[in-house]
Amino acid sequence: MNIGELLTSRGKSLSFEFFPPKDDLGEINLFQAIHSLEALNPTFVSVTYGAGGGTAKNTRHVVERIIEETSFNPMPHLTCINQSKEELEGILEDYKKMGIDNVLALRGDPPMGKDGKPMPVTHKYYAKDLVRLVAAEKGFSIGVAVYPEGHGETPDLERDILYTKEKIDQGADFGVTQMFFDNNLFYAFMERARRVGINIPIVTAIMPITDVGRMQTFCQRCGATLPKSCVERFGDKPLSKEDAVKIGVELACEQVTDLMKNGVKYFHFYTLNKDESVAAIIKNMRMEKYGLD
Ligand code: FAD
Repeated sequence: MNIGELLTSRGKSLSFEFFPPKDDLGEINLFQAIHSLEALNPTFVSVTYGAGGGTAKNTRHVVERIIEETSFNPMPHLTCINQSKEELEGILEDYKKMGIDNVLALRGDPPMGKDGKPMPVTHKYYAKDLVRLVAAEKGFSIGVAVYPEGHGETPDLERDILYTKEKIDQGADFGVTQMFFDNNLFYAFMERARRVGINIPIVTAIMPITDVGRMQTFCQRCGATLPKSCVERFGDKPLSKEDAVKIGVELACEQVTDLMKNGVKYFHFYTLNKDESVAAIIKNMRMEKYGLD
């Protein structure tokens, strides 16, 4: 099912992101979570990709199992840095044969070498080059990453939105945001997007926090601001896993409430391969209606 068309025609959406697990136990846990979220009928589910081709096979494997075992509409992420045009075309041909209709087209980052430094860039592309390649293959609905706070390498927000527009103009049907916790940053991004003529659906990514310490590190790495007010909600004493999950769910519900009040209708949840927090948020917020009928 073509995600771009679904978003436009339905005007609302619920979707989930998973990542390829490292081992057999991780895969068992992932598919338990997948099966337990199936009843929510998401518009699509996405599966992340290791940049530079590292876990390409793992992404393909998870997507293949999703197609075989579930009713989900899958969207593999695909990064282009350090991959040749021929390799990328081969992956797209394979996805076409598998019946995949959607791709999230990304540049990615160079993988880390054994010395802890980024490996040399062998194939320098931007996401817009991959969008052009996927569009030329025909038959895929194309998503791209968008950054409410700007991408870490971009010198300023004005340039960031113009580069974003460039990749959309190459044929992207929809954008998926980087996670964010301060909705005002997202509203300001939408203002900039409108100003430069971006009018494709923008899907907002929500990250339920389960471990605030780890989330602070993760946010630093991907350039997302975790407001002090969010961190303070977890207090300064060690919490049980259940209490931490409860606070993370409360925070996400507050964020979603405000987004809904401001007219947002496309919600993408980072599951971290678990169903508990996401299922609780959807139940509390009565978001089942955002999924497919
Ligand atoms: P681009 O859009 O190409 O942007 C990269 C940088 O180049 C930006 O700073 C941009 O401003 C700049 N730029 C763009 N065009 C130009 C130009 N013409 N001249 C100069 N500068 C330019 N990573 C993974 O490895 N695997 C994943 O599965 C994955 N999934 C993601 C999903 C989402 C929703 C998001 C938001 C990010 C994801 N990422 C993933 C991370 C992403 O790969 C990195 O953030 C990466 O650094 C940028 O990718 P991009 O597609 O946004 O690149």
